[in-house]
Amino acid sequence: MLLIKLPVFFSVSVKSMFNTLKNLLQPRRRTIAMATVDSVTADLTTCQICWETFDNPKSLPCLHAFCLKCLQACFHYWRPGYEVPCPTCRTKFKIPVDGLGGLQHNFIIQRLVDVRKAKELTITTEQQPGRS
Ligand SMILES: [Zn+2]
Ligand SMILES: [Zn+2]
Repeated sequence: MLLIKLPVFFSVSVKSMFNTLKNLLQPRRRTIAMATVDSVTADLTTCQICWETFDNPKSLPCLHAFCLKCLQACFHYWRPGYEVPCPTCRTKFKIPVDGLGGLQHNFIIQRLVDVRKAKELTITTEQQPGRS
């Protein structure tokens, strides 16, 4: 049994090793992975109301986040203490006593926004000599 199984195991592991090596040598794969990371970051830093990069991201109790200005525009007619639905999932939340500005500031999204902005700035600066 062992004698029969061993070559199979060997051929499989050699094949997978070869594939790993092939993947490592393919620069295209890396580019795809980078693009995916970028699109995920773009997703996480895009407000679902204005479809732009978050400006002062605030989290609702359902953990959806929106720009403060977008929430203020959405719930313009509602006063603190009123229950309003989340624009994405419709879960109700109470407007804080100090208004929508009193909602939890989303530091993680803010950080991602900062990183994205810094990255975009770097890319633009890098591309400038080539453009002109
Ligand atoms: Zn927004
Ligand atoms: Zn929600």
